[in-house]
Amino acid sequence: MSADDDTSLDRALRDAGLATLAVRAGQIRSPEGEHSEAMFLTSSYVFANAAEAAARFSGEQPGNVYSRYTNPGVRTFEQRIAAMEGAEQAVATSSGMAAILSTCMALLKTGDHIVCSRSVFGTTTVLFNKFMAKFGVEVSWVELTDLKAWEDAICAETRLLFLETPSNPLCEVADLTALAALAKKHGVLLVVDNCFCTPVLQRPLEWGADIIIHSATKYLDGQGRCLGGVVLGRAELMEEVLGFVRSAGPTMSPFNAWVFTKGLETLKLRMQAHSASAMELALWLQQQPAVEKVFYAGLAEHPGHDLARQQQSAFGGVLSFRVKGGREQAWQVLDSTRMLSLTANLGDAKTTIIHPATTTHGRLSDEDKMQVGITENLIRVAVGLEDIADIKADLQRGLSAL
Ligand SMILES: *Cc1c(COP(=O)(O)O)cnc(C)c1O
Repeated sequence: MSADDDTSLDRALRDAGLATLAVRAGQIRSPEGEHSEAMFLTSSYVFANAAEAAARFSGEQPGNVYSRYTNPGVRTFEQRIAAMEGAEQAVATSSGMAAILSTCMALLKTGDHIVCSRSVFGTTTVLFNKFMAKFGVEVSWVELTDLKAWEDAICAETRLLFLETPSNPLCEVADLTALAALAKKHGVLLVVDNCFCTPVLQRPLEWGADIIIHSATKYLDGQGRCLGGVVLGRAELMEEVLGFVRSAGPTMSPFNAWVFTKGLETLKLRMQAHSASAMELALWLQQQPAVEKVFYAGLAEHPGHDLARQQQSAFGGVLSFRVKGGREQAWQVLDSTRMLSLTANLGDAKTTIIHPATTTHGRLSDEDKMQVGITENLIRVAVGLEDIADIKADLQRGLSAL
């Protein structure tokens, strides 16, 4: 395949599977003919002559001007993840939060209204409640799985329905088909933060969502190195988001784009491995006398199990469980581990463990914690790629001490 065979590559990829797209889609090869994706560490681009500079600036001639607008390595990442999600267009951002902010800034105005699941990433709650509110955008919070609550919350000013599925940390599952139908009926946009599943496990656009958000920081990177995000959807919507990112500047760095692009190449294998180990760990935890309850949509008794089986190809790497007792017992399990990383991050090759009630969800009032099920005896594990026997052995240390 030579550099000028792009169109034949595009044609070859038209019906390609996800793993193929993850390795092949979107590559922009420089005249050097490098095989691996190049990294374009440059803030600006030179022009052949003054006329070309003028034509590029005016937009008459396509091409690079400045890396806040375009960067070939960032474009490779955008085209590759867009192909994998089945989206017309992707806009890369400096973090997952920047992806959410850019979506709001591009598509909302003062007086608009968001209906949002109560079980979303903590910082999303802060962004909506504290900062979007400052610009006169109101938010109603609803139970992720309560379809009637979603419908009741929609009003004439509503523009977005916003959710994550499965939720963090209790793995509740939203009915995407039903919510997409609701969004369509009321002429609003369904936005899905697909961070926990990635396109390997769930492709929300196929279930009728309008916009997908990712924190690339998590599974897309997969090894906990870089911050990044991406917004995906129809070109007409993404042009608005792109316009905001170009003007406001929460652009993805070319270095980070390269890391994410290479991360995508192994995403399918990793998500399958994370899911298989999480399933095994969930079943094992259920057998432990010190464990009260396990939350993982892969378990047949989980209320979201059937829905997750329809929407997802596997159940992902994040699970949570309640130990018998309270905060003291939960902390003891965390403090008895020697290998697992005590950190809030997830989507890493390294298994991470955290006590949500005093960290990721620590800002919630006691009442809100109860409402979303974040009890003091709850522990979240994001299962990594170590041997599952070693993950179990590390948890066993704390559990058998209870
Ligand atoms: C981490 C995370 C975010 C925020 O992403 P950053 O890259 O940390 O800004 C948003 N949504 C979900 C579900 C996340 O896990």
